[in-house]
Amino acid sequence: MSKTGFVWHERYMWHDTMSAAGTYRIKGDLQPGLHIENAETKRRFKNLLDAYDVTPQLQALPFGEASDSDLLQFHTPDYVQKIQALSDAQGGDAGEFTSFGPGSAGIARLAVGGTTAAIKAVATGKVDNAYALTRPPGHHAERDIGRGFCIFNNMGLGVLSAISEGLTDRVAIVDWDVHHGNGTQQVFYDRSDVLTISIHQDMLYPVDMGTLAENGAGKGEGFNLNIPLPPGSGGGAYLAAMQQVVLPALEAYKPSLVVVGCGYDASYFDLMSHMMLVSTHYREMTRMIKQAADQFCDGKLMMNHEGGYCDFYVPICGMAVMEELTGIQTAVRDPYANTEHVPVQALQPHQQDHIDRARQGPLAHLKGRS
Ligand code: ZN
Repeated sequence: MSKTGFVWHERYMWHDTMSAAGTYRIKGDLQPGLHIENAETKRRFKNLLDAYDVTPQLQALPFGEASDSDLLQFHTPDYVQKIQALSDAQGGDAGEFTSFGPGSAGIARLAVGGTTAAIKAVATGKVDNAYALTRPPGHHAERDIGRGFCIFNNMGLGVLSAISEGLTDRVAIVDWDVHHGNGTQQVFYDRSDVLTISIHQDMLYPVDMGTLAENGAGKGEGFNLNIPLPPGSGGGAYLAAMQQVVLPALEAYKPSLVVVGCGYDASYFDLMSHMMLVSTHYREMTRMIKQAADQFCDGKLMMNHEGGYCDFYVPICGMAVMEELTGIQTAVRDPYANTEHVPVQALQPHQQDHIDRARQGPLAHLKGRS
């Protein structure tokens, strides 16, 4: 059993993304409903952890709201002021698809604080590993604009804090949210002390980013890897991408800490993508990444909850990840795993072509630079 740190706060659930039709902001033209990024997936995951007595076996980590100076490690002063002013008034939009109501600046600061606390707790050895169940998510947030439901870059800021305090010096961030980790890529694009890897659906969001050619710049050249997979990829493609690109990249880089951008929106049931993972694949990817962390950095692994939009399925996939991370076995069973109802797709030749291009391009480039 691992000693696993846990970050959760009820206020994360109070971040209001305002009524919408999916992600579309209503203008009196369509029936208002819940925004697709709402509290339900994450609240239900926490409820499942509670219902199966997992939560008391985790170590609750203390944390608070990130300060201005924490945020200014990456974000611009104008952007931080804009978010705070909108939040203090009636809310607004942080930039692109990132609507929020009054008070969300404080909640977004609390998400940065939670992720940062979890990264530091792992880096210092206070816990073996950690899971941060935060909201709003962070991996799309860029320096001066919020994008894709993300206000501040939780993972990027957490890693910057840990490095600036001398707690770690070589971090690998593996982002398997189905969307490209554009914000996190931007944070570390010119740095070699943080390797950023993103596996995502090709040309999904942001539609013009996440290409094989985005390899980093300056000192960071070679230290950013994108693995775009074609729509329709299932467990076969994801596990092959992990085996053939992600794990060799970690072996070449030899991080002192691994952070995972753990989105669940590549699942078969997700409304925001066209991938086909079931919980057993999230379990297997977690097992792989945990073994790599054991091998290279004494198991120092922090997992940060990012996207995932299927109310009933995110908690099931999340429990599979949590069981692997902690070593706890629960009685939760995935009724959708390995049944004839879900076409769990084997690796297809065109998917292998995508993986080969990532192997021959960015992975080879990294190996040449490490
Ligand atoms: Zn996503």
